[in-house]
Amino acid sequence: MVRFTNVRKSYGPLVVLDDLNLDVAEGEMVSIIGPSGSGKTTVLRMLMTLETINGGCIYVDGKPLTHMPKNDKLVLANTRYLRERRADIGMCFQHFNLFPHMTALQNCMEGPVQVLGLSKTEARERSEELLELVGMIDKKDQHPSRLSGGQQQRVAIARALAMRPKVMLFDEVTSALDPEVIGEVTNVIRALVSQHKLTMLMVTHQMGFARDISDRVCFFYGGKIEEQGPPADLFGNPQKERTQKFLSAVS
Ligand code: ADP
Repeated sequence: MVRFTNVRKSYGPLVVLDDLNLDVAEGEMVSIIGPSGSGKTTVLRMLMTLETINGGCIYVDGKPLTHMPKNDKLVLANTRYLRERRADIGMCFQHFNLFPHMTALQNCMEGPVQVLGLSKTEARERSEELLELVGMIDKKDQHPSRLSGGQQQRVAIARALAMRPKVMLFDEVTSALDPEVIGEVTNVIRALVSQHKLTMLMVTHQMGFARDISDRVCFFYGGKIEEQGPPADLFGNPQKERTQKFLSAVS
């Protein structure tokens, strides 16, 4: 579903991703862990086409992200093509970025109506189903300022899902939350993994959570995947010295 082939990204002289190869299968949940500055967020930003790339290619569902096929060649993607590719991807950030002047329900309905062209009735039905899924249906008419951080994050997850993305990205979604509400957000993600089998890529600092729910964990170091594997192997028996050092420092 997602493929990075020899992807390079630099900011001036700083190489942030160095020949990155990463595949995520359909329905797979992959967690990215690693020290600050190792390129984790850049991977997600590139999938959202918020960053240009300096080399290699990224494919989502077999389609290249930055280039499009034309007359048997690949040419630079135009705006329409990019917009279609972006619709395949949903993202939740550390800061929820809900529209403050809209209710929880309106936040979820906005994309389906404005971008996908759904009728208001269809969008409302879909949004209510998702607000139910994340346990926020009782608060559907509240504005974000009346909701706790955990509740806002759950609405943000419902809003992203309302676009029916093929891939969901989670970037440190619990980092800005008070400890007592982290569980309500991780439980929603846990339910998505066990019941909905979405393809997901998650950057997290919560090692216990990554260990619990991931099919695979990638340890990033210096813009490369230093080590990857099933959580039981990576956390239980890390092979590389850098992985061992990192895990003993954070646990
Ligand atoms: P992580 O998510 O692992 O903490 P990032 O992907 O955010 O790492 O950043 C990787 C590196 O790229 C860091 O050294 C960071 O300072 C640098 N970086 C990120 N965004 C920019 C930018 N817009 N301009 C310059 N450097 C950047």
